[in-house]
Amino acid sequence: MLYNGPKCRLCRREGKKLFLKGDRCNTQKCAFLRKPEVPGKYGKNTMGKKTEYHGQLRAKQAGKRTFNLTEKQFKKYYTEANRRDGNTGENFILQLESRLDNAVYRAGFTASRNQARQMVSHGFFTVNDKRASTASIQLKVGDVIKVKKNDSQFFAGIVKQKDNSPKWLKVDLAKLTAEVVAIPEIMECEQIDTQTIVEFYSR
Ligand code: SF4
Repeated sequence: MLYNGPKCRLCRREGKKLFLKGDRCNTQKCAFLRKPEVPGKYGKNTMGKKTEYHGQLRAKQAGKRTFNLTEKQFKKYYTEANRRDGNTGENFILQLESRLDNAVYRAGFTASRNQARQMVSHGFFTVNDKRASTASIQLKVGDVIKVKKNDSQFFAGIVKQKDNSPKWLKVDLAKLTAEVVAIPEIMECEQIDTQTIVEFYSR
């Protein structure tokens, strides 16, 4: 089941900022800056106990939580990445990066992946002019995401003023469109510890 509890708790649990709450994450209100210790009664005592398994588990949890996925969904990407030819870690992150909700977030149309997922599922976007309400759609080169016309006024207020989108997305913030123009470069993908996650699943 998808975690619906307090997001900041997840950052504190993983010991790093996962940027799950949009603009708030870049302000002094960030809970991780104020209370960086592991949440819970024994939080302070658990810091520092690190086995190899512990490191792998935490890397997997951090990756899963960054992309806002369930264990089943996250593991499915690993299984598919392992089945494909080439580097499993690269196959893994490329699939995650190519998800529709991730592209919506990376294009700057929403403040967080969580918000992107919600808006996709509520039918705010089209892909190649067809309504797309499944967050896990795998985009390919040439696909064009658009905000549905009647929602454009709403989005005009929340899109980032500056285009910080990756090179694989050609974003037009005025028209509220984003075209996939290339396969994502690994360096441009979300920096999760794919190597350690692969080690965790291949134990
Ligand atoms: Fe994490 Fe953002 Fe909450 Fe900070 S504000 S703890 S980065 S979700």
